[in-house]
Amino acid sequence: MNRFKPFLAASLFWSVSIPAQAVLIQFDYSYDSNGFFSDPVRRGVLEAAGNYFSSLLADDLAAITSNSSNTFTAIFNDPSSGNQVSLPDYNVPADTLIVYAGARDLGATLGQGGPGSYGVRYTDPKYYELVRTRGEADETEGATATDFAPWGGAIAFDIDANWYFDADPATDEAITGIDFYSVALHELGHLLGVGTADSWSNQISGGYFNGSASLAAYGSSVPLDSIDAHWAPGTMSILPDGTPQEAAMDPDLTTGTRKRFTVLDQAALSDIGWEVTPVPVPAALWLFAGGLLGLLGMSRRG
Ligand SMILES: [Zn+2]
Repeated sequence: MNRFKPFLAASLFWSVSIPAQAVLIQFDYSYDSNGFFSDPVRRGVLEAAGNYFSSLLADDLAAITSNSSNTFTAIFNDPSSGNQVSLPDYNVPADTLIVYAGARDLGATLGQGGPGSYGVRYTDPKYYELVRTRGEADETEGATATDFAPWGGAIAFDIDANWYFDADPATDEAITGIDFYSVALHELGHLLGVGTADSWSNQISGGYFNGSASLAAYGSSVPLDSIDAHWAPGTMSILPDGTPQEAAMDPDLTTGTRKRFTVLDQAALSDIGWEVTPVPVPAALWLFAGGLLGLLGMSRRG
């Protein structure tokens, strides 16, 4: 039993180190009419992907509240049918994105994700500004957009792909099939604006993305795919620990592999306007890093 104690300590550290103002990704399964997420293991993997972004994004998002004179309608595609859904008199809590999740036959596509659209009826012009920016200072729509602050959106997964559901995506092991966690991260990346936000489109020129953080992470303008919605196929970056990996937001995933968010993928979120904080390192890894630094110091000549 004793050998489990370090893991418990590490998980406690994780839970207290998520900043209070973190963006919460709240999944809603009420449109999962095909029952894809009836299995709690599947919901757990999706929620682990959401928690990754909660640990990364520190934005303060204002609540959206409908009342008699100002009303908000959330619009998204039902993930189980693809049909458009409109929910009037909609409310979104502060610091929260609501994500409708489900599955249907997507053919050769593994997943589809994106921000929702909306309708708004208002008497107070400030209400329209609030639903557009969620209280952030910068413009989120149109040719001058430098930020992004959606209410949420929807993600759909292919219902009959050979999925691999990892109950503990924090650890890497042999993956047999198509890694659901990797696809969930990718589709949430689209929902957060990669390939979808005006603040993404406004930084594209001639098939290259020119956001400053992405330029710094990649070393030059970053080539995009043919629809300017992803990095070009095969684009390489590194994980925060320096391990090379194909970027999560290129269009492809190889069966039997996992793709986490790379430094370049995180940079894209920053360039779109998100406040990206370094992901906290678990206590056990800090201890290991300290020991490693000590070891290097001892071997140094001079
Ligand atoms: Zn994609």
